[in-house]
Amino acid sequence: MKETGLSALSNQWTVKDSSNLYGLDRWGEGYFSINQLGHITVHPQGPQGESLDLLALVKELEGRNLKLPLLIRFDDILNDRLKRLHKAFNNAIQQYNYKGNYQGVFPIKCNQQRHVIEEVMKYGRHFHFGLEAGSKAELLIALALIEDPNALLICNGYKDQRYIETTILARQLGRQPVVVIEQPDEVERIIKASKTLGAAPLIGIRAKLSSRSSGRWGTSIGETAKFGLSVPDILQTLEKLRTANLINELRLLHFHVGSQVNDIAIHKDALQEAGKIYVELNRLGAPMGYLDVGGGLGIDYDGSQTTTSASTNYSLQNYANDVVATVQEACSFHNIEVPTLISESGRAISSHFSVLLFNVLGTSSVPSDIPKVKENECLIVKNLRETLNSIQKISKESHIDCSKLQEAWNDALKFKDDALNAFRLGYLALPDRAIAEQLTWACAKALIERLPSEDMIPTELKELRSALAETYYANLSIFRSAPDTWAVEQLFPVLPIHRLDEKPSQLGHFADLTCDSDGKLSRFIDNGDLKQLLELHKFKRDEQYLIGLFLGGAYQEVMGNLHNLFGSTNAVHIKLRNNGGYKLDNVVRCNTKSDVLQAMEHDPELLLERLRIASESAIQGGTLKISDAQQLMDHLETSLRQSTYLHE
Ligand SMILES: *Cc1c(COP(=O)(O)O)cnc(C)c1O
Repeated sequence: MKETGLSALSNQWTVKDSSNLYGLDRWGEGYFSINQLGHITVHPQGPQGESLDLLALVKELEGRNLKLPLLIRFDDILNDRLKRLHKAFNNAIQQYNYKGNYQGVFPIKCNQQRHVIEEVMKYGRHFHFGLEAGSKAELLIALALIEDPNALLICNGYKDQRYIETTILARQLGRQPVVVIEQPDEVERIIKASKTLGAAPLIGIRAKLSSRSSGRWGTSIGETAKFGLSVPDILQTLEKLRTANLINELRLLHFHVGSQVNDIAIHKDALQEAGKIYVELNRLGAPMGYLDVGGGLGIDYDGSQTTTSASTNYSLQNYANDVVATVQEACSFHNIEVPTLISESGRAISSHFSVLLFNVLGTSSVPSDIPKVKENECLIVKNLRETLNSIQKISKESHIDCSKLQEAWNDALKFKDDALNAFRLGYLALPDRAIAEQLTWACAKALIERLPSEDMIPTELKELRSALAETYYANLSIFRSAPDTWAVEQLFPVLPIHRLDEKPSQLGHFADLTCDSDGKLSRFIDNGDLKQLLELHKFKRDEQYLIGLFLGGAYQEVMGNLHNLFGSTNAVHIKLRNNGGYKLDNVVRCNTKSDVLQAMEHDPELLLERLRIASESAIQGGTLKISDAQQLMDHLETSLRQSTYLHE
C-alpha cells in the first residue's frame, strides 16, 4: 500500500515523512536527501561524498545577486553519472567475460550548452568518451571540443556534401568521425566526396529495426521510422560501398529505439535484431568493429520501477548487462570477434545534475468560507444553506454512501445555476450572487471532508478536490524552463526545498507567469501513478517559499522557448572543493528584457526613444510632470537591464 503521508499526525511529522511523501529515495539515485532542518541536501558525488544544503546555497547565490528563478548545475553529479555508466558497462564486461570494450558518446542535442559539453569532455577524458552530433552546428561543436584522439565522433542526422567532406577532412586532422548513413542516398554522397578528396571517412550504417518500441518516442524504429535503412537498403548500400572500394571503411552499425524506453524487453528485442545484422554485415565482408546501441536508456523520474512513461522497469546495470550479453551471444554463435560497444545515452547522463529553483509569488483559491447569515435571505441562498446543513449532518465516518454525497452536490450545483440565472435576469443582486457562490464552495469543502478513500469516489466528486485546491503562482515560465511538461506531458519530481520538517497542509498546483492557460504544473509523480495536486505548505507572505524541479538536465532548458518573452533564467555551475565547501564555477547570466526584445528584432534604444518623445509631448500638454516623466524613463531603462522574471 502506498502511504500518503498526510495521514500522519501533524505533531509527529518528520523529515522522513516528507522524504517518503515526495519519494526522494525512490528517484534521487542518492543525490538528494532531507536534513534535520527540513532542507533538501544535495550529495553531488553520491551518498558517500560531501553534501550541500540547497536552501543555504540558494541564499548565498541570491547574496551574489543571482536572482530566482535559478538553474543550479552540479557538475560533480555529471561526473558521477559518467562514472556510474562506465562502471555498469565494465561490470557487465567482466561478468560475461566480454572480449571488447565500452566506449560511449554524449548526444549533444540533449544539452548543447557550452559549459555542459566542456564538463562532459573533461570528466569523460579518461574513458575516451566522445560526442554524437545530429546536425552541422553540433558537428562544429564536436569537432572543436573533442581533443582526445581516441574519442569517437558519431555523425548522425541529415548530411549534405559539405557535412561529409568536413568529416573526411577532420579524420585527417586526427579526429575519429564516423559518418552514419541514415538515408539511402547518403552513400552516393560519401562515394563522391571520397573521390573528390582522395580520402574516405569511417562509415557507419543506421539500421531501421523492425522490433517493437513503446512510449512517447516509439516511432523511432519500425518500417516507417524517419531515420535508418531497411534491410534491403542496407544490403544495397553494402554493395555500393564494395563497388566503390570503400567497404573496408564500413566499421559501425547503429540503431536507436527512441528515448526514455520504459521496458527492458524492448531493448532486448532491438539488441537481438541489431546483433544479428551486425554479424551478417561482418560475414558479408565489412570489417565492422563497433556496435552503437543509440540512446533510449531511461531514467526513473517517479521512482516506481515500472513501465509507466515516467519510469523504467530496469536499472542502469540491467541495461548494460543486456547490451553486453546479447551482443556477446550473437557474435559467439558465429564465432565473430565482438565489437566495441557504443551507447549514446543522453538522458541518463545529463538529467540529474541540474535543479531548477523558483519562488512562489502568492496563492489563491476559490472563496469557501461560510458567509454570515443575514436577515431576509433570498430563497436560493436559503436553499444552499439547507444543502450545506444536510452535508454537515453526514458524519465523517467510513462506509459512507457516496450516492448521498453525490445527491447533495447535485442539489448545490442546481441552486448555483439558479443563482446565476436569477442574476442574469435581474432578480438577484451582486452581493447575493457572491453569497451563493461562496456557499456552493463551502458545500464542496464539506463534501470533500467526508469523502471516503480515493478509489471509491465518483469522478465528478474527485474533480472537486482540484477545483478547491490552492493555486501557487510560480515565478517561472514552463515554456522556457520545463517545456516537456507541456509538450509531451512529462513528469518531473517537483517539491519544496525547505519546510520539510513541517506537515504540508495544502493541496495545490502551480500556475506560471505566462498568460497562457497551459502555463501550469498540475501533474505530479506519485510512485507509478499520477496526481493532479501536490502536497504543499501554507504560503506565508513574509517568507520565501522555494520549489525545486528535479531531473530536468536533459532537453528542458535547450528546448525552451520565448513564449510571452520570458527568457532564460540565471544558471550557475557548482563544484565541490576538495577541502570542503563549494566553488561557483561558471555563471551564465539570464536573458535581460533587452535580450529578448532584440531576439524579436526590436531595438530597445528605439523603443525608449519613442517613449521619451511621447512623454515630452505629455509634459508639453501638461498631463505629465517632468519628475514623473523622468521616473518613468528610469524604470524602463533599469527594467531593460534586468531579467524577464519578477523580483521581490
Ligand atoms: C536523441 C538521440 C539520442 C539520445 O537519446 P537519450 O534517450 O536521451 O539517451 C541518442 N541517439 C540518437 C540518434 C538520438 O536521436
